[in-house]
Amino acid sequence: MKSASVESILVKAQKMCEQRAVRLTPQRQQVLRLMAEQKNAISAYDLLDLLRVSEPQAKPPTVYRALDFLMEQGFIHKIESTNSYVVCHHVGEPLHTSALFICDSCGQVTEHHADGIDQLLKALAFKTGFVIQHSVLETHGTCSNCTK
Ligand SMILES: [Zn+2]
Ligand SMILES: [Zn+2]
Repeated sequence: MKSASVESILVKAQKMCEQRAVRLTPQRQQVLRLMAEQKNAISAYDLLDLLRVSEPQAKPPTVYRALDFLMEQGFIHKIESTNSYVVCHHVGEPLHTSALFICDSCGQVTEHHADGIDQLLKALAFKTGFVIQHSVLETHGTCSNCTK
């Protein structure tokens, strides 16, 4: 899987915000840019440190509000098990189920489409009358670099 470039992620996000009539403020955009530049998932506090380079006034709520917005728009995913965040590499496909493979040795996170699982979840939800908003599968293990 080839990762989308930082610029293409930002351009897509900008376009989608315009379509949805929501505002990608410079601050939100900066948070998304910083995240897109990361190879791995990042915690809110590490993100705050990076944001403070360009915005020394930034406080934790600044980052959390931006993260909430970006999650609502489906631009990033939260990894609950490691309490960190990662840019979605399938921006523009809002209702996908993403399978996140998390390497416990180096922290690398890769996102994969999980179409079969998608169907399964949809079928289960349909049976029980449940309406899925989003789903993230977190799978821990060792990446190919670390198993060498
Ligand atoms: Zn995704
Ligand atoms: Zn690894």
